[in-house]
Parts: sequence; C-alpha cells; structure tokens
Amino acid sequence: MPHNLLDLDLDKLTAWFAELGEKPFRARQVFRWMHQSGVSDFAQMTDIAKSLREKLLAAATVSAPAIRHAHVSSDGTRKWLFDVGVANGIETVFIPEDDRGTLCISSQVGCALECTFCSTGRQGFNRNLSVAEIIGQLWVAHHSLKHEPNRTPTGNDAGEISERPVSNVVMMGMGEPLANFDNVVSALNIMLDDHAYGLSRRRVTVSTSGIVPAMDRLAERCPVALAVSLHAPTDALRDTLVPINRKYPLAELMAACRRYLVHAPRDFITFEYVLLAGVNDTPVHARQLVECVRDVPCKLNLIPFNPFPDSGYDKPRVDAQRAFREILQDAGLIVTTRKTRGDDIDAACGQLAGRVADKSGRVMKRMHKEAA
Ligand code: SAH
Ligand code: SF4
Repeated sequence: MPHNLLDLDLDKLTAWFAELGEKPFRARQVFRWMHQSGVSDFAQMTDIAKSLREKLLAAATVSAPAIRHAHVSSDGTRKWLFDVGVANGIETVFIPEDDRGTLCISSQVGCALECTFCSTGRQGFNRNLSVAEIIGQLWVAHHSLKHEPNRTPTGNDAGEISERPVSNVVMMGMGEPLANFDNVVSALNIMLDDHAYGLSRRRVTVSTSGIVPAMDRLAERCPVALAVSLHAPTDALRDTLVPINRKYPLAELMAACRRYLVHAPRDFITFEYVLLAGVNDTPVHARQLVECVRDVPCKLNLIPFNPFPDSGYDKPRVDAQRAFREILQDAGLIVTTRKTRGDDIDAACGQLAGRVADKSGRVMKRMHKEAA
C-alpha cells in the first residue's frame, strides 16, 4: 500500500523522508505543496527534483476523502458529506461570519459514548477516522473556499476572495475527538503548523464530553482551546444524559478543567450546555449550574436542543431559555446562546450524517427493544 502523505504531520513526514534518504527541507517543501497549495499530484510540485518526484510517485499518494455531496445553505453555511467507505459517511460544516469562518470537523464515524440527546450517539460507533480523513476535511474546505467569493449572512464583505477562508476550527462534528486521541493530535499539529494552515491554538477548539485522562494528555501534547460538554449540573442527572460521567464524575471533571487551564491558550474553558425542555432547563438547574462551575474560569455556551426524529426530547421555549440565561448572568457568568445556522441543510450540531453502520450492533438492539 502506498503511504498517504495526508496521514503525516511534519515530524512524521520528515522521519519518512529520512527513510527515503531525503533531507528535512524536502519534507517541508512537499508539506507546503500539499497543505498550502492544495496540490495532490506530485508531478505539479515543480520545485522538487524529478528523481524525488518519481520516488514519491512509486511510494506515496495524497488522498483526501472523496466528497459525496456538497450543499450551500441560504445563509451561506456549507456542508460536505464525505465518503469514508461506511453507510452515510461523515460531515463537515463551514459557518461564515463577518469576522471569521468556522469549520466544524468530525473525528469518528459515529460515537460510542451514547449521550442520550445526540443523534450521533444514538447511531452507535463504527470506527475512528484516520489523520488523512480528519485533516482532509480542512484540506477540502480550505482549498475549495479559497477560490470563491465570501458569502456572509450580512454580506458585508460579500464578493471578496479570502486567502484564509477558514480562520477557526472546532472539533464538534461527529464523534468524540479525545477517544481518537493520536489521530486527532496529529491532525491538530497540521492545522497549527506554519508550513500548513498556521491556525493559532486559540482558534482551534476540541470539544469533549469529559474523558479526564485524555484531557490531561491533550494539555501536555497539544493544548488548544477546550470546550467541555457539561449538559447537567449534578452527577445524578449527568449520569443519565452523558454516561461517561459515571466513569469521570463532575468533581474530577472540574479538577481536570482547572489543570487544563494551566496550559490552555485561553484563560477560560467553554462549557457547552444543551437545553432540554423540562429535563435540565429549570431555574433550579440554573442555580445548581452556577455552583457546579464556581471554581473554573469559564464561559457558558447554551445550545437549544436540536430535535431529531424519535429523540424523546424537546427544545425549551424561548422564555425558559431566557430565564435560564438570566440566572447565570446575574451570578456573573459570561453566557452565549448558540445561534442555529444552516437549518435548511441539516447542518446543526447533533444532526450530522444520517445513520452509520454500527459495528457494535447497538442501533439494532435498541430498535428491537423499542419494538418489544
Ligand atoms: N463528542 C464531542 C464533540 C461533538 S458534539 C462532545 O460531546 O463534546 C458537539 C456538541 O453538540 C456537544 O456539546 C454535544 O453535546 C452537542 N450536541 C449533541 N447533540 C445535540 C443536539 N441534538 N442538540 C444540540 N446539541 C447537541
Ligand atoms: Fe459522542 Fe459527543 Fe454525541 Fe456524546 S455528544 S454521543 S460524546 S458525539
């Protein structure tokens, strides 16, 4: 099998070039051709010696996942569905705003963590994405958007062509990034590398449901901005909504957040909190939440639940959302409410990619249970 060079961060590419008897600066050149120029054909890497191009042609490829569909929403949000050889594949979403362009990337096909309100979690787990499949999502988005005029909702800079259309990356698509740790870290290294996309650590966010030991490893290996999916202020409730809480309960999670902040590029953790009507959105929950996050410098990101068929949950009414937010704000917390974008192309979180072929057979089991 030829090596897919999109699987390698610069250190690994340099090591592989050394095996070929090639110098580190050659690895850097090829790395720049791939990531900065979007070139996948070695023949087009014109400043590389012909003998090296021939070696590469024989031993390697540059293969991003194939695009199965690309959609543009009326508000400028884009969605790509990638073929990763499994059922409906994986999805990537681009959200243009006036001052930034955010790409939401997937890390796994499905997810094993079974959060009850998450459509990915309901589908079960199929497999981890490779580095090439993770960075390939940015590769495709960056190089296809680079040549297109901007389309922001307000149209302030509409028509301009941006050299850096993707300014921010959030690992908030399908899957739990910290459950695919090594591949995610290599992909993050490529995002941050000045010879590739040169994104700052503050503009790359990993979102986790709270795998505590992996949060410590991320702090050590690649401390990017961190978002933690909290969703409940007590262990009793979080145990039911986010089952990984049974393994790493709230006190441990909050301690891990404090440790992370020592290394983090920002001086706060973002806590995500999906508002589920009647489940975690009452004033009592809001007051418990204030207590829960008391010792962690943070921002709260409230996400009104995104409904999907047979979820069993509802989105809270607007007045309930407002009351919840006001209790947090009155306690001095910084709170944002996530806007829903790209609704007409199903690009909202927790809604990505229909069904996966679940290797654990869990979806089948659940369907049988429901039928019984
Ligand atoms: N596995 C990671 C990242 C992917 S999910 C995590 O759980 O953090 C990205 C965010 O979307 C998480 O906060 C997740 O809890 C939230 N989410 C999942 N399903 C949702 C839904 N149906 N409505 C709103 N947010 C949802
Ligand atoms: Fe997995 Fe995140 Fe969905 Fe939970 S919310 S099931 S961790 S993708």
